[in-house]
Amino acid sequence: MCRHLAYLGPPIALRTVLTEPEHSLYRQSWAPREQRHGTVNADGFGVGWYADRDPVPARYRREGPIWADASFPDLARVISTGALLAAVRSATEGGAAGENAAAPFAADRWLFSHNGALTGWPGTLEPAAARLSAAELLSLDARCDSAFVWALALHRLRAGEPPGDALAGTIADLAPHDRGRLNLLLTDGAVIAATTWGDTLYYRHEPGRSVLVVSEPHDDEDTWVRVPDRTLLVATPDEIQLTTLKEPNR
Ligand code: GLN
Repeated sequence: MCRHLAYLGPPIALRTVLTEPEHSLYRQSWAPREQRHGTVNADGFGVGWYADRDPVPARYRREGPIWADASFPDLARVISTGALLAAVRSATEGGAAGENAAAPFAADRWLFSHNGALTGWPGTLEPAAARLSAAELLSLDARCDSAFVWALALHRLRAGEPPGDALAGTIADLAPHDRGRLNLLLTDGAVIAATTWGDTLYYRHEPGRSVLVVSEPHDDEDTWVRVPDRTLLVATPDEIQLTTLKEPNR
């Protein structure tokens, strides 16, 4: 499935995390090292970032592979930000194609990505879908599993749940009914929340300065910390909190 990342810290050019490292997200789009499901991530990509004094992020998404976008290197060189979330997509069978189905999904101040797949899509989703209104279901960004997972998370965020609770709650909504993989990633530009539920996740933390959360490490340095499976991570540059997620009653 896809690979994703989120960064909080001093302003950096997008290229610093997206294209320059030896095993950056860019390279992971055709040569991921730890991806267990799917081989290449060529079904779209996206980056969302926060600009000074504007709480609503900007997004750049495309339906094709990141390496085929001739405009992206220029953007990655000149855009600087202290908060971003990016993903490269390997579409799950049966899901829609196109830019609207590429992460990051966005609403209000939020950026969201789902690395994984719902195995019973759409058959197993009735109980979770019942949490959403018709208007929420009809305004899905795309007819794909990840847009549906985002709708569940956004429903909780708009009800006032903190980001970590919203992701843990979304897994609790889905996991009793679907054996899918649910590595979720969310930011509002101030905090990163992420889950491990079937795929890998690492972080690199410079305390008081920056935090980078990634599906797989960008290099072979020993500064990466692997997050155990079934874990909720809530991170700021100051602090990383890890909480074990509950297994559902099936
Ligand atoms: N279910 C996701 C999709 O179809 C899979 C890609 C990913 O892992 N993000 O977009």
